Amino acid sequence: MKLTKTILLSILLVSLILTPTVQYSQAAEAEYPEPLSVILMIGDGMGYEHVKIAKWVEVGKNANLTMETLPYSYSVTTHSADAQITDSAAAATAYATGVKTNNNWVSIAPNGTELQTILEMAQINGKSTGVITTTTIQHATPAAFMTHVESRGDSSIITQQIIESAGVDVLMGGGSAFFSEYQIEFMVANGYSLAEDKSTLEGITSGKVLGLFSEGQMYYEQERDINLTPSIWEMTNKSLEILSQDPDGFFLMVEGGRIDHGGHDNSKVDVVLEAIAFDNAIEVALSYVENHSNTILIVTADHETGGLMITGDSLNGELPSDDNTEMENRAIRIARANNIEVTWSADYHTDSNVPLFIYGDVFEDYSIDDVIDNIQVFHIMDDYFSGNISEIVPPLITVERITIIAGAAAIIVLAAYFIKLRKSN
Ligand SMILES: [Zn+2]
Repeated sequence: MKLTKTILLSILLVSLILTPTVQYSQAAEAEYPEPLSVILMIGDGMGYEHVKIAKWVEVGKNANLTMETLPYSYSVTTHSADAQITDSAAAATAYATGVKTNNNWVSIAPNGTELQTILEMAQINGKSTGVITTTTIQHATPAAFMTHVESRGDSSIITQQIIESAGVDVLMGGGSAFFSEYQIEFMVANGYSLAEDKSTLEGITSGKVLGLFSEGQMYYEQERDINLTPSIWEMTNKSLEILSQDPDGFFLMVEGGRIDHGGHDNSKVDVVLEAIAFDNAIEVALSYVENHSNTILIVTADHETGGLMITGDSLNGELPSDDNTEMENRAIRIARANNIEVTWSADYHTDSNVPLFIYGDVFEDYSIDDVIDNIQVFHIMDDYFSGNISEIVPPLITVERITIIAGAAAIIVLAAYFIKLRKSN
């Protein structure tokens, strides 16, 4: 009886030791089954309170927006090289290049040097690239990833660089008024599929895309014709469908650009609707990265806008729901936003820290401080693309550790058991 027990126990322990080992060697064979890709999502002007008011409206006080469910979160300081309060050009330059520059400057250092961007580095490594925004594609945040100018207001120079040197594969947003007819024809002649409405975009399934959905900024979510103009989540979904076809991987920047404009206007309804739309785009990106282990998702903001503070509410129980039409949900969101009282302390940006949320297995043991400066976001992406994060802590190590611990535990238990067996004999 005792012998049977010992044999059974031994088999159990040996299989415990072997199981993780088998998993490890299988995983090691397919170490990088997919190319490394990065999705960076920037909510322009989206401070903590903007996230909170959107949460209260969309899911209530006791649930979470999608961005809040990402496993790693940090707080980011945002000052620029020449000002405590940054603008979007300097902030986006920090994210795109890892260098702080002056307000208004787009991926050019304070000493006048052109700064290589994370998007350009991805291109050098053969990856596809995408830039999506709800503002004009010439706006400071998208521009900082693909162009270099000393003044963010030089929309015609930015447009020229987008056409002549940026080489971005998937470009979507507003700003068609900055293109001449010839410039658009030039891009189409160079292989871009042009989409100016939602149904044309839906029909494009591969290749280079130029989506220009308005002359200036895209419509606020509150005013968007859902049949005519794609939402930020639909643009994100289409971009991922196309960019993921590159066997070398991709870099995609998605900007929820008009949360900032809602802040400048001190319009809580627009802040709420833009932030929720941005969160819906994050949901699309999250479901992509959950199924693509070598793609990381980084969600952050460039600065806070408006000094927003919630001061009270008279919210009722009715939440937006999948059972409603999109327009019914929009009406519910507007009504809920109007039932929250807020104060604004500015009609410009503030120096409040902004949130950073990250998804990616490689970050399990990646050590960064709880509060980081905005330039570090670039270094996270750069470290990831150069394999440094994986080199420090390969995700497979975790399985190896389990093997060692299980093995050691098994030996101790077996030894203790045999000692006990001997003593009792
Ligand atoms: Zn702004």
